[in-house]
Formats: sequence, C-alpha cells, structure tokens
Amino acid sequence: MVDLHGQYLRIKEEINAAIQKVIDSSAFIKGGDVRLFQEELSAYMGVAHTIACGNGTDALQVAMMALDLQPGDEVITTPYTFIATIEVIRLLRLKPVLVDVEPGTFNMDPEKLEDVYTERTRAIVPVHLFGQCANMEAIMAFAGKYGLFVIEDSAQALGALYTYSDGTQQRAGTIGHMGITSFFPSKNLGAFGDGGALFTRNDHFGRRLASLVNHGMQKRYFYDHVGVNSRLDTLQAAILRVKLKHLDEYHLARQRTADWYDDALSGMAEVQTPVRSAFSTHIFHQYTIQLPAEIRDDLKRWLQEKGIPSMIYYPLPLHLQGAYLDLGYRAGDFPVSEKLCKKVLSLPMHTEMEKEQADHISGAIQSFFNS
Ligand SMILES: *Cc1c(COP(=O)(O)O)cnc(C)c1O
Repeated sequence: MVDLHGQYLRIKEEINAAIQKVIDSSAFIKGGDVRLFQEELSAYMGVAHTIACGNGTDALQVAMMALDLQPGDEVITTPYTFIATIEVIRLLRLKPVLVDVEPGTFNMDPEKLEDVYTERTRAIVPVHLFGQCANMEAIMAFAGKYGLFVIEDSAQALGALYTYSDGTQQRAGTIGHMGITSFFPSKNLGAFGDGGALFTRNDHFGRRLASLVNHGMQKRYFYDHVGVNSRLDTLQAAILRVKLKHLDEYHLARQRTADWYDDALSGMAEVQTPVRSAFSTHIFHQYTIQLPAEIRDDLKRWLQEKGIPSMIYYPLPLHLQGAYLDLGYRAGDFPVSEKLCKKVLSLPMHTEMEKEQADHISGAIQSFFNS
C-alpha cells in the first residue's frame, strides 16, 4: 500500500545527518528541532500557533480539553472516520452525536447538522477524510449561527487547500477554532514513529494547548489546569523538518498517481473513481474507489491473488462498533456511511509509485471485469 523505504532512500543522507545531530546533542526531549519544526510548520500552514504533541489522537483529546466542556455536552462528528475521532469524545465523558457523510466525498454532510442540533451541542469535529476538505464554509456558517466550536481532524489532509466562495484559500486544519494532524508514518507527512500537532489562529487557545500538552503547566511547576504529557520527541521533529521541505512534492506525486488511476479506471462502468470537490485540493492520503457491494470483496481477493494489496477504509461505521453501541444508534441510522463501508476499496497510493505500477494495478482490475 505504501513505500516508506523507497521514500527514505531518496533523502537518506539528509535524514541520517539530522538524526545524528540530535544524537550528538543528547537533547532528546524539547531539543531545538521541536521549536524550529513548529515554526516551519506554522509558516507552511499560514497559522499563528503550531503545538507539536505525541500523536494525532492526543491532539484531538487536547483540543477538546481546551474547550472546558461539561460531561454530557454534545460534540458532532461522523460515523465514517477513524475511531480516534469519536474515542476522545467518549474518554472526556462528552456525548458523540453523529451525522451522515456525503456519498461522493466521504465527508460530513453539512445539510444534516440542523437535524441533530440541541441545547447541549457545543462543538463540531469535521474530518477531512482521505485527503480532501469537508465543506468548511457551510460548517463554519452553521457553527457561527449557534456559537459552536469547530475542531478540524486534518490527520489525513495536512497541506490540502480549501477555497472559499470569495476565492480566498486556507490550509485544512487552520479554518476552525483548532485543527489537528498526525505524523503516523503512513500519513502524508510521516515521522519514523508517532507524532502529532495542533493548529490554531487564536492566541488564547495557542497558550492553552501548549500548556495542556505539558501537564497543564503555566509557569515552571505551577499548574492551573489538568493536562497530559504528550510530546513530539526531538528525533521525530528533526526527521519531520527534513520531510516538510518535500511535502508539496509528495502531494504532487500522489496527485499524479491519482490521475493515472482516474484515466485507467473511469472507463469501467462498475468503478466510481474519487470525487474531487471544487472547493478543495485533494492530496490523496487514500485513493478510494467505490464498487457494487456484491463484487467488492471478490475484486479484493482477485487483486490479492495477483500480489496487489488493497484496503477497506473502513469496514464498519463507528455507530455499529461494539464499544459504541450504548450510544443507542442502530443499523439504518446512517445509510450513506453503512453503504460506503460495503462499497469502498483503497488502492496502493504513495509517493514512489511509477506509471507502470499504477497501470499494472488498473490492468488487474480490468481483467477482473473481463473474466
Ligand atoms: C490517523 C488518524 C488519527 C489519529 O492519529 P494517530 O497519530 O494515529 O493517533 C485521527 N483521525 C484520523 C482521521 C486519522 O486518520
């Protein structure tokens, strides 16, 4: 599915030198690279504050902690995302309230927000799934109308550009009150281990988040809020500084691969290629096609027999997961998400893909339909 080793080999000297420098300094925690990485990522994102932390899940939790919500307060997100998004809401004793996604983009359907709004609604967590922004203009307008906070889960869309109807552009993760991302190795900007970050334009949240990831410390050994210990270590920061310089080039390589797939697959009647929204660039964290549910698993097996990996993101929507059944949702409550789980298939997608590989994969899909 990915080729992290191939990506490493192309920048091996630079990466190895950066790692060696950290080892020589012995500043493994809070070394200079952490501060520099935060500054460089802020510049790339066009945002005032970037706060590095241990992973994307921590980032979501800390963002939610900064809102000072009360147990039972409601946070709206979708059932078609990675588990982390809903998990942290539950851990903080808040109530996840779900809205279905759009069938084409896999992202939150803003039209459904009004249906679930209550007096207890406090925040919305849109997820920019597979590398493309949710309809942020509509979501922000809804949030503004009711005074809600918006935390963008940008773990899969770091660097995607959102275009407002007036033509202004902003990076995914910098539009809401706070945004988060993940540097999990297979994400578009991947570390050599775990890592994550929070973004905000707001100075109050900027200070609060920096304190929360550091045990809630204000001044040295004085604590005004309960926090967590969540750090990006210096080695990861040094590696990410090198890779950040290549991020736009990585996006281009993924987009080129997506174009190859689109060209080869769009002629196949049974295959729906990814929808590209007019208001967002797509950085193709995943290239996810939709197939008739009856043949999806057969095609997956067919590809597997030919040595071609593929993945199902995600096989079961969150409202039907065992750990979350007590939310009281039932099969049929989110028909779009439920259907997508039976129809989706993500194809190999990474920065090192060559045209011959993409053609080989598309050819294998064609041969399935010819067989
Ligand atoms: C990867 C991911 C996360 C969590 O990131 P980690 O760094 O693995 O904790 C959260 N949300 C989404 C949508 C993700 O894809």
